[in-house]
Parts: sequence; structure tokens; C-alpha cells
Amino acid sequence: MAANPSPSSRATLQVGKRKYTYFSLPALEQRGIGRMQRLPYSIRVLLEQALRNVDGYVVTEADVRNIASFGPSTAGQVEIPFLPGRVVLQDFTGVPCVVDLAAMRAAMKRLGGDPGRINPLVPCDLVIDHSVQVDSFASKDALDENLEIEFERNQERYEFLKWGQQSLTNFRAVPPGMGIVHQVNLEHLASVVLEKTDGAETIVYPDSVVGTDSHTTMINGLGVLGWGVGGIEAEAVMLGQPTYMLLPEVVGMRLQGRLPEGATATDLVLTITQVLRKHGVVNKFVEFFGDGALAMGLADRATIANMAPEYGATMGFFPVDEEVCQYLQRTGRPQPLVDLVRAYYQAQGMWWTDKAPLPEYSATLTLDLRTVVPSLAGPKRPQDRVPLTELQKDFRQSLSKDPKQRGFGLSPDQIGAVAAVADDSGASLQHGSVVIAAITSCTNTSNPSVMLAAGLLAQKAAARGLTRRSWVKTSLAPGSRVVTDYLKKANLLPALEQIGFHVVGYGCTTCIGNSGPLPQPVADAVRAGNLVAAAVLSGNRNFEGRINPDVKANYLASPPLVVAYALAGTVDIDLQKDPLGIGRDGAPVYLRQLWPTSQEIAAAMQRSMSPQAFQREYGAIDQGPPQWRKITAKKSDLFAFDQDSTYVQEPPFFLQMSRQPGSITGIRGARALLLLGDSVTTDHISPAGNIKKDSPAGRYLQEHGVAPKDFNSYGARRGNDRVMTRGTFANIRLRNLLVDVEGGVTRHLPSNEQMSVYDAAQRYQRERTPLCVIAGKEYGTGSSRDWAAKGTFLLGVRFVLAESYERIHRSNLVGMGVLPLQFVDGSNAQALGITGNEIFDVALGDEVQPRQRLELGVTDPHDGHRRTIAVQCRIDTPVEVDYYRNGGILQTVLRKLLATPAAAGNGQVGATAGKATKAVARKATTGAKKTAARKPAAPRRSAKTPAARKAAPKQAPRSKAGGTARPKAAARPAAKTRATKSAGGKPGRAGGRAGKPAGKPAGKPGKKR
Ligand code: SF4
Repeated sequence: MAANPSPSSRATLQVGKRKYTYFSLPALEQRGIGRMQRLPYSIRVLLEQALRNVDGYVVTEADVRNIASFGPSTAGQVEIPFLPGRVVLQDFTGVPCVVDLAAMRAAMKRLGGDPGRINPLVPCDLVIDHSVQVDSFASKDALDENLEIEFERNQERYEFLKWGQQSLTNFRAVPPGMGIVHQVNLEHLASVVLEKTDGAETIVYPDSVVGTDSHTTMINGLGVLGWGVGGIEAEAVMLGQPTYMLLPEVVGMRLQGRLPEGATATDLVLTITQVLRKHGVVNKFVEFFGDGALAMGLADRATIANMAPEYGATMGFFPVDEEVCQYLQRTGRPQPLVDLVRAYYQAQGMWWTDKAPLPEYSATLTLDLRTVVPSLAGPKRPQDRVPLTELQKDFRQSLSKDPKQRGFGLSPDQIGAVAAVADDSGASLQHGSVVIAAITSCTNTSNPSVMLAAGLLAQKAAARGLTRRSWVKTSLAPGSRVVTDYLKKANLLPALEQIGFHVVGYGCTTCIGNSGPLPQPVADAVRAGNLVAAAVLSGNRNFEGRINPDVKANYLASPPLVVAYALAGTVDIDLQKDPLGIGRDGAPVYLRQLWPTSQEIAAAMQRSMSPQAFQREYGAIDQGPPQWRKITAKKSDLFAFDQDSTYVQEPPFFLQMSRQPGSITGIRGARALLLLGDSVTTDHISPAGNIKKDSPAGRYLQEHGVAPKDFNSYGARRGNDRVMTRGTFANIRLRNLLVDVEGGVTRHLPSNEQMSVYDAAQRYQRERTPLCVIAGKEYGTGSSRDWAAKGTFLLGVRFVLAESYERIHRSNLVGMGVLPLQFVDGSNAQALGITGNEIFDVALGDEVQPRQRLELGVTDPHDGHRRTIAVQCRIDTPVEVDYYRNGGILQTVLRKLLATPAAAGNGQVGATAGKATKAVARKATTGAKKTAARKPAAPRRSAKTPAARKAAPKQAPRSKAGGTARPKAAARPAAKTRATKSAGGKPGRAGGRAGKPAGKPAGKPGKKR
């Protein structure tokens, strides 16, 4: 590319009285770069963001050219940076992100800077939706009671998040009890076009987002490119850093025709999931096109986009068209925004119509919507669709099928089991008894047609005198308060309540497994009969154990089918032939008599929905319920971490940080903490589930006065590094080849004593021995989990040596300052005769280059024989070298800010003077909230000397054991307090720097940081 294409691509757009600047893709094409009409629409969004952000360092001209030349030679081959416009968080994964921001503020203060300058750089919204559980149900009081219990359980976390809501700028927290993150994003947060000011200009660009929940993909139904990422990537994006990805292949899926009468969007998405799983779309984009896609309503598109993780794609995209604008109007977005969206996408050649040329996709599939039939998916996987007509047969077969084939492996004598429910109902349960029927999950609660269909079915059933069976735990958990509004206006909420579907909360509930306990007599009967009890839910995931520990068969279904199965009380029924029940007139009532027609649904929608309802419900969404308003968190620059909290603690990442980074140096004398095989997942590394009583984390909690019944999960305690570090490599299924037992156990060397991974790591830290992990193929596979990298670092692991890495986990390791190394030439530990008993040295210097070959010294401790093997450094880019030198992404950003005068920082992390961004919708609907420029002051491209290092000491003191020398430690009052807390025989902090126990002077052991 001859010159930076960015400046010459600037163009202006007049909409009404306002003039905007945008980075024009047609102008880029005129310069001979890319043929826009052949690019998939989703790729055009990636191209625009690269074009707009070219700086020759984070985004290069080659990145623009690579994206513009999307095709077989580049898709799936080249890595590109992605700088999304927004971040959305849910509370489980959002808490650690906010904890890190609070810790950065504390570090800023210690280092003499202004802590108030630490804020997200791109607009960030956290929706507190993952913590509500269905404890109370089928009662008018269910909503209030569940909310009350939720606040009791989560008081500490919520106090912390309320501090964030009040004290951070460019950050909003949607309080508990208001809605589900993706539905709130769809109905309110997303603006489709974002804008920022740049001097006198207002720059507009496509809305795009990453979120810390895998179903962030739902927003692609609105033409907003986005998907779920791990916490570290989300934090990086929040702080203006890119996330990296391979330019994806794009599978085009043609949807043709219309859904037949009786089929719902849920049936369609279950069909699409099955088709795309079969084709294989992992790590690919899917883009929908065809007359069926164009004619489809936006809510149906969102339902399809939601389940991208289930069909395996990075995301499933519907481009921006007139329906998007209509939806923005229907949901009460302001008219100037709607006009801007239409004008912008038309000007960019990104406007989707039936006349637009068909892009060239990597592969193309076709689905005729007329073939879709009412369906469920299960009993164990979302891609196992079963037509409603086949469900009874399929369920019966699954009872005796081998568990390896997703059956339940019952013997013939177990098939007829019956167990009485010990309450006054006189009921008895059998295999297939439905014990949970849940209208849940943003997948469906965001779709008025299926929610109203459920209400209409309930109304007809109630009119015939039917109600839920006594053993069915029924729940209705809308994804926003707008749903209740339209169900009330359509006069359908009373009917739903009449058959047991009272609102239980506005949050994720059963979708995330927060279904709450079954009534004791029901649970007792299920256990006594060893029954394969069933759940029917309108969610998107149904792996065994996810929904409820007492429920083995989990079926995903549309909301009206959820209601139908609550009435029937069993999945062992043929709903085509068998009645749901007997009406009050003594006559059998069949599903076909209750199923609403499309005209009835359309009429209900017509009379119940209005833009004003969205404006009203979202107008005060920041206020939350009374319990939230009662929390008295003070606005302050610094969060007052409570040393006694077992949920939120200041992580030690910045406790010894100096203003300048040290040099990168080698690692000497390392021991293997673990020797692992292939496909070690992030869940092996950092489990999210239960905390065992006798595990290091369980012991820690008990020592701090938490009874085992109140342990909660690792997922809920991600704001406390003490718990999470103790939980790292604590998965009971971990197979460490240094020992003969399964679980979080290892062998300390050279003592050969067997102990927990955490205890061994502590002992190595006292001995000032750096650590490494040796692994096989696909290390860190599974969903991205920030604590898998954070916990690894805090245990004192300085490098990981693996045959291959899951892409995001590798980058997370670098983001936490852990060096990823890779075996070369197809070799591995076994082939090289590495047993894990050796002592390791990594020859590494400040001149290290991305993907450089390095020498790993391997010394036999018995005879002292030392040999060297070649390994590849998997720091992959100059930007990552900078992260590594700084000790991680967060430290890099913090130092940049410290090096930038406050006035130039514009009050935000890494902000460039004079720039400010804002989401158009945010300004227009909820009042302007000042945001900052999203682009950090770019460091120099050189991998070896970032600008911030100019003032660094020439040579930081080199440690005895090797590794990156530590710069002089900053004053650390917080560290002192905490070191005191962990003294006296208590397990010491896992944190701090490798080889240096908490409270000891810094700078001794040779580690990075
Ligand atoms: S409802 Fe389900 S899919 Fe939606 S955000 Fe909650 S857990 Fe994720």
C-alpha cells in the first residue's frame, strides 16, 4: 500500500442539519483497495474499523489490505486487530473487570497519579442479570421474594458494583431486577451507529461490541457485529487495546420462503443449529441472506443470532436494512438516530436490500423455512433437534441408550420406575416427568411473538380449566420489564399466572442453571426412584447437570411448548394424539385446540406494544429496585477494599508496580508445577463450579468464617483473587502426569512430596523458585476464562511450554505477563524425554522478537547434565512484546497513562486530548454521558523500546534466579496490610511476584515483573 489509506478515505455525510465525518469504504475501493460489493457485510464492518484506526502500530496498512482482500487466501489465514466500539458485561464476569479497574486506581494513587483518570475508554455497560435464582415460584410474591434473597446473597458484590456505577465514568451498571444483558443491549443499548467527536468533527462508524457472555452474539440480529470474549480481552478493549483474531471464513446461509403456520422462531433456530453444526462453522462467521432472511422480523433474527455459540460460529450476522430501522423506531429510539443509521449504511454501501449484489462467501448453505416444524432439542445437547411428533419415541429410546450416545443407560428393570411425591397431591413421578418448565433466556424472552404465543396458549388453557401439574416448577423470567408491560396490556399475564407462570425475576435464572432447588418432596421422589426427570425450558443450553442437579433430561423449546409441557407434566407423551389434560367440562383438551394462530399473535402484538413502553421502562433503568437504591455506596476515586470480604479483594497485580517497566530478561532455575497432556481446558485450569470443602479454596473460606453451605461457586467469587488463585488447577478432573492421582495435586521438587497445586506453588514461592507448566496440544481450549491466565500468573508460573494453544488463552497468558512457549517441529515433552523433574532455563532478552526461536535449557537434576532444545516464543506481535515487557496489558495501559499529562488524558485511560466518544442512542435516550476518545496514545512500533521506557533506568537490577529484573518497587501500603493478614501460619498470598512471599522486599527473584 503506497500510503496510509485512512486520511484519504474520510468523507462527509449530511443528515438533517448535522454533518458527520466517516471513513468511506467506497473511497477506499476507488483507490483500488478491495471490491466492497463482493465482501460479506460483516467483513465490511471489520474493514471499516481497521481503516478508521490505522496508526501503523496497533492497526497497520497491511491489516486494511488483508481484510479488503478477504477470500480463500486470507480468510482463516491472517491475523487482524479488532477494536470494537463498546463492551457489555454481565455480573459474573464483570465483577473481576471492575475489580481490576479499582485496583488500577489504587495503583495510580500509589504511583503519584490521579486515580480518577482510570475509567473505561470505550463505553461499557454492565448488566447485573446472572445472580437471580428461582427460589420462590407460582406465587404473586415470587418476584419480590427472589429479589430479596438475591440481594441477601450478593450484598458485598452489589455494594462494590454500586460503587462502580457511581464512581466510574464511561461505565454504566444496570441494577439487578431490570433485565438480561443481551435483551437490554438489543432493546436499548445498541445504537447501530456510534459517534465520537474529533476536534470540530463528529465521526460516525458502525456499532460493534464485545461482551463477557457467549450470547453477546444476539446483537448481530440488529446488524451490530459482536461476540463473547473472556475477561482479559474485555478489559483490554475497555482500555482501548485491540483484540486479535484470524480473519474469519464467512459461511453464507440462504433462508428462503416463510415459516409455516404453527412453527416459531425457536423451532427455526433449533433447525439452523442442527444444520450448521453438521456443516461445521467453528471459528467462522455466518451471514444470513435470501428472501426469507430479508422478510424476517428483527426479533426472530435476534433469536437466531443468539444461538451462534450453539451452532458453533463466532457469530451469525444479519446486515442492516429497513427492518433494523423499523425496529429502532418500534423500541423507542430517537428519530435522528434512525435517520442517521439509514443514511450512514447507504453511504457506506453496507445497506442490505433484495437488489444488493450477493457477497462472495467462503461457503453457502440453503434452508427452506417451509420445512421447519415444531421442535425441541435434547435431552443433552442443543444441536440434537427432535420434531415434536417424535419426542415421546425419542425420549423412550434415550432411556436405555448408552450414555456415550447421549442416553441414560437404564436397564430394562429400571425403565418402569415410579416414585410417590410425599405431599398432599397424591401424585407419583416416572421417567420423563417434567419437574421444571421455565420460560427463560434472552434467546426467547426478547421475542414478543413467542412470548405472546405462550400467553395466548395459557389463556386458552386456563379458559378450559387446565393448570400446571403439581410437581412442575414453573417460572417466567422476562429479559426486560417491557415484556411484562406488553403481556399485561395484552391481558395475558393473568392467564399465565393462573397456570403457575408468575414472574420470578428479570434475569437469567434457569438459562444459566439458577433454577433453584426443586420442592423437597419432588426432589426426594426423583432421587428415590432414580428417575430421569425432565426440564423443558426456552433456553439455549442443556448439558447434563447445567439446569438442575436433579434433572437429567433437558429439552429446549419455544415458550408456548414450555407452557404445554407444564400442563402435560411429562415428556413421555405424544402431544399430537394425547390430551394435555381434562378440561373442567370433563372433555380432553388437545394441544392443537390451544395453539395460537399467527393472526392471533399479530393482533396481540398490535394491541400491546408501543415505543412509549420501551422509553418508559428504559428511562429509569439505572435506578433499579428499592433494594438497590438502599445500598449506600459513596462516590469516590478509590474503592475502600474490605480486608474481611470473601467476595471482593484488591488483586495484587499492581502492588509492586513502578512507573517504568524493567527489561525483559531470561528465566533461570524453573521447576515444572505441572506436566499435562492434550486438550487441557480453561475449566481444568480455573474451574467455575463448586468449591470443595477440603480444597485450598474451601479451607481458606472456612478460615474466614464462611460455612460450606455458603461457599457459592468459583464463578461467583471471581472478585476475590485469594479464592481464585487457590482454585487454579484445582479441577477434580485434572490429570497431572507428575502424580498418579486425578485432581489439583502435584509433586513438589526436589522433595518429591505430594501436595495440592496451590500448596506446592506457595512452597516454591518461599524457595524463590520460578515455575512453568508443560502441556500437550490445544492447551487452554474451551471458553475463554480470565482467571485461567490470572491464576496461572499468581501461582508463580512464569512460562508455559505447550505443543499448541487455544488462540485466546495464549493471548491471555501474554496479557498477564506469562510467557507462552511452543515445542517446534512437531516435537513434545515425551519425544524429547522431558519428565517434568528437570530444571529449566529460558534464554530471553529485551530484544526478543515476536515468534522468535529461543533456547530452552533442560538440566537433569541428578547428574547435572544440561542440554538445550529449540522452542518458539509465542509472543506473536510487537504489541504483545510491549505487554510482556510491562508485565501485562493492564500495566501497559497504566504506565501509558502515567506518562501522559492529565490534561492530555481527557480524564480517561489512554485518551487522546480533545477526543470524546459517545453512543448516539445513549445521548438521545438517557441523557448524555460524557465518554472519552477510544484510542490510546500509540506507543512506538518498535518491539524493543516503547516510549514509556525512555526515562527508565538503564539496567534494572538483575535477579539471582534470572527472569525480568524488577524495577524499584513503589510504595505499597495495601500490600503491607494484606501481608499482615496472611501472616501467622495462614496460607500466604499466592499473589505478588514469583519467588517473593508477600511482604518481603521486591526485586529479589528473577521474574518478569
Ligand atoms: S439468559 Fe442465558 S443466554 Fe441470555 S445472558 Fe442470561 S445466561 Fe446468557
